[in-house]
Amino acid sequence: MSHTQITMYGTQWCSDCKRTKQFFGEQRVHYDFIDIDSDAEGLAIVQRVNGGKHIIPTLVFGDGSTLVEPSNAELAAKLGLQTKAKRTFYDLIVVGSGPAGLTAALYAAREGIDTLVIERGGVGGQAGVTERLDNFPGFPDGVSGNEFADRLRRQAERFGVEILSAQEVTGVGVDGDYRSVRTVDGEEYRAWAVLLALGSTYRRLGIPGEEDFIGAGVHFCATCDGPFYRGREVLVVGGGNSAGEESLFLTKFASKVTIATHAPMLSASRVVVEKVEASPQIEVLSNVSPAAFRGEGHLEAVDLKDVQGGEMRTLHPAGVFVFIGLSPNTALVQELVETDERGFIVSSPTLETSAPGIFVAGDCRAGSTKQAASAAGEGAAVALAIRAYIQPRAGGTPRPELAAAMAPAGAS
Ligand SMILES: Cc1cc2nc3c(=O)[nH]c(=O)nc-3n(C[C@H](O)[C@H](O)[C@H](O)COP(=O)(O)OP(=O)(O)OC[C@H]3O[C@@H](n4cnc5c(N)ncnc54)[C@H](O)[C@@H]3O)c2cc1C
Repeated sequence: MSHTQITMYGTQWCSDCKRTKQFFGEQRVHYDFIDIDSDAEGLAIVQRVNGGKHIIPTLVFGDGSTLVEPSNAELAAKLGLQTKAKRTFYDLIVVGSGPAGLTAALYAAREGIDTLVIERGGVGGQAGVTERLDNFPGFPDGVSGNEFADRLRRQAERFGVEILSAQEVTGVGVDGDYRSVRTVDGEEYRAWAVLLALGSTYRRLGIPGEEDFIGAGVHFCATCDGPFYRGREVLVVGGGNSAGEESLFLTKFASKVTIATHAPMLSASRVVVEKVEASPQIEVLSNVSPAAFRGEGHLEAVDLKDVQGGEMRTLHPAGVFVFIGLSPNTALVQELVETDERGFIVSSPTLETSAPGIFVAGDCRAGSTKQAASAAGEGAAVALAIRAYIQPRAGGTPRPELAAAMAPAGAS
């Protein structure tokens, strides 16, 4: 997103500075950061803006205006983001604006279904924060996540989809024929149907440098980013099945894969462990845990700490892949719809959840493949199922061939 020049004055330790940085990161807004612990001129500016007081973060905009310790709502307003819907009733409300949510929304809106999308972060979901999508069909040279998200948003808006961002959904409900969605600012919106396209979150290590190097040497998806490391050495963090399987996959590209696990041995299944042990390209370092990622603009070094003795050592892999689990963003609907033991939402063949009129698509769905193209594919499929569900309620009747196509396999 382009915006006037923004300078944030803050410190590394201030939690509101971190929240503000995260907000700008999610909205893909560029800003300059001045650490007032090490910049006397920056400290003087903070004091001047705040009448001699030392309040951070202090934001100075290109037009000279300032915001001091702003809430996310104030930041959204300053950036001109739409956080409130124009009406209270829509045919369809989509929660989440990743590839699944936006594809469903644009399919639905193109069919005349009045659609509202509500997104808690920036539009585009995980795909939007990806450095580069190399395997999305139709982009022979790859596409930056930023551009991909922007294209999806523009395409959805062209068909009339209304999109709220920086607005979190805190509850979803069923009330007779209507479905309701509550947002963190206390609003409630209603619709005939709701699509949960909530995505999932790769668990992070939470160590210094991790956020800074995501997409610049730190990765969470081997299928997505492994091919960038052809002939180079990579480090895998984790010790379970996904760490083992993804390490084996990475040997197709990387010259060497080092697995770092904090446990004395890999906890993956025996079959996976045997394959790992048999691979001449894989080395396992046990009882170590990453302590920091370092570099200038791109990852250059990883500090590993011995979990028993505390000794430190430094490795210099070209890239790091972190596989310590994936959590679905489904906490808000755990009481409403059936989920599997890991919290992913269970669906029917027509992508409907256990709650009628509440549909699911993409990474938060049990059995999904956690790829942008498949999330978009599920978005298209669920939009057709939603159309068949909505039409009789909203006044129309579904075309017979559509109703047949949407019936579960084996149904007559
Ligand atoms: C760093 C990285 C690199 C990747 N690289 C690739 C790649 O190269 N190729 C590939 O195919 N895939 C890649 N992926 C995976 C791909 O991005 C995902 O599979 C895809 O984005 C899933 O789409 P989705 O719409 O299901 O969910 P998401 O993209 O996760 O979108 C879900 C959205 O829902 C929002 N949301 C969640 N809860 C709420 C709530 N309560 N209220 C409002 N909004 C909410 C989230 O903020 C998010 O924006 C990558 C992922 C990451 C993290």
